[in-house]
Amino acid sequence: AVEVHDVHKWYGAHRVLDGVNLTVRPGEVTVILGPSGSGKSTLLRVVNHLEKPESGYVSVNGEPIGVRRHGDRLRELSERAILAQRSRIGFVFQNFNLFPHLTVLDNVAAAPVATGRLAKPQALELARELLGRVGLADKAAAYPRQLSGGQQQRVAIARALALRPGVILFDEPTSALDPELVGEVLAVIKDLATSGTTLVVVTHEVGFAREVADKVVFIDGGKILEQGPPGEVLDRPRHERTREFLSKVL
Ligand code: ATP
Ligand code: MG
Repeated sequence: AVEVHDVHKWYGAHRVLDGVNLTVRPGEVTVILGPSGSGKSTLLRVVNHLEKPESGYVSVNGEPIGVRRHGDRLRELSERAILAQRSRIGFVFQNFNLFPHLTVLDNVAAAPVATGRLAKPQALELARELLGRVGLADKAAAYPRQLSGGQQQRVAIARALALRPGVILFDEPTSALDPELVGEVLAVIKDLATSGTTLVVVTHEVGFAREVADKVVFIDGGKILEQGPPGEVLDRPRHERTREFLSKVL
């Protein structure tokens, strides 16, 4: 499970996350909705400790991320320990972030080798299997620039899977794509959801949320205003702000 415990994050006087509590159970799909600037990306970045919260903390499978309990205090972990933790959390970005100078196969195989989890031949075998899973077995030898945006994002998903993470975080995985490429990426994410991978997905794709999410979370001004099953949050929102937001994206 991913547990976010009373997380506060601020930049100067600007409270970007203002007391966020969230539990993501194993195998669950959580979709996060909210207006631009509401703190969605910051929340994902706090989960894998790319951002350090001013107070509160996150735990993944019971293990606090970035900190260690010391009596009743929290102490920062070393950068090395944080990197090891981060390798158990997959992150898929809006802009794919593939290594341009590596083939598709090597993009997927790179992290298990770099982290010492697998020897090169095993990593390549796993990468081939994962490329098959995202429907790109025939693109193994291509370079990222030779692929469409949708294909690049599917490679990025295969790359995230290569570390066998306990949870995968997606930050607007389809918002940089041409409309006709959105469906193929959502289909791959849906396949992961069906096979029981724990996912947290920031997206404006309300149809996807309705179909795939176990829980929908609406965040505004750094606070979770409401959360619940899609049928509640999307169809019977309790807050005026949620209704207003949904009327704009639907
Ligand atoms: P979008 O939908 O546009 O991606 P978001 O919900 O992901 O928005 P965040 O990127 O989390 O929003 O940003 C939340 C707020 O925090 C914004 O007002 C942003 O300007 C501010 N912010 C984010 N990072 C920093 C930073 N490094 N320094 C100062 N302010 C920041
Ligand atoms: Mg964002």
